[in-house]
Amino acid sequence: MHNFFKRLGMRLSQFMAGRYGVDALFLPLVIVSCVFTFVSNFKGLGLFRLIGTIILCYALFRALSRNFDKRRKELYAYSDFSQKIKKYFRLKKKIYEERNIKKYFRCPNCKTYLCVPKGKGKLKIQCKKCHHEFIRKS
Ligand SMILES: [Zn+2]
Repeated sequence: MHNFFKRLGMRLSQFMAGRYGVDALFLPLVIVSCVFTFVSNFKGLGLFRLIGTIILCYALFRALSRNFDKRRKELYAYSDFSQKIKKYFRLKKKIYEERNIKKYFRCPNCKTYLCVPKGKGKLKIQCKKCHHEFIRKS
């Protein structure tokens, strides 16, 4: 039995030689695929099963791929995207935690988030990024 697993392991590593394998994007893809498959059990959402299967196939395709360059580019794009999501939720949390002392606005020109102390009446706010000025009630 021990030999069987040893041989299986060797076969597997031979098979995976020169292939990309599993990276940080693999598990999120599998999880998203599972979510789609789970959701597909609800009425009228049968199509989600197909999408889930496609995502799972894509995850496996990536692991077995020999195109390291392309797979790494996908990984970078994914980490970029997940960083943006994390940043967004951190900001939302901060806005919520400081809701009694600070008021947040978005610059009408460049959409940067700006904050001012709360309850100071009408304020002229200058964007720290593009220097656009606008007036808001704090
Ligand atoms: Zn601005």
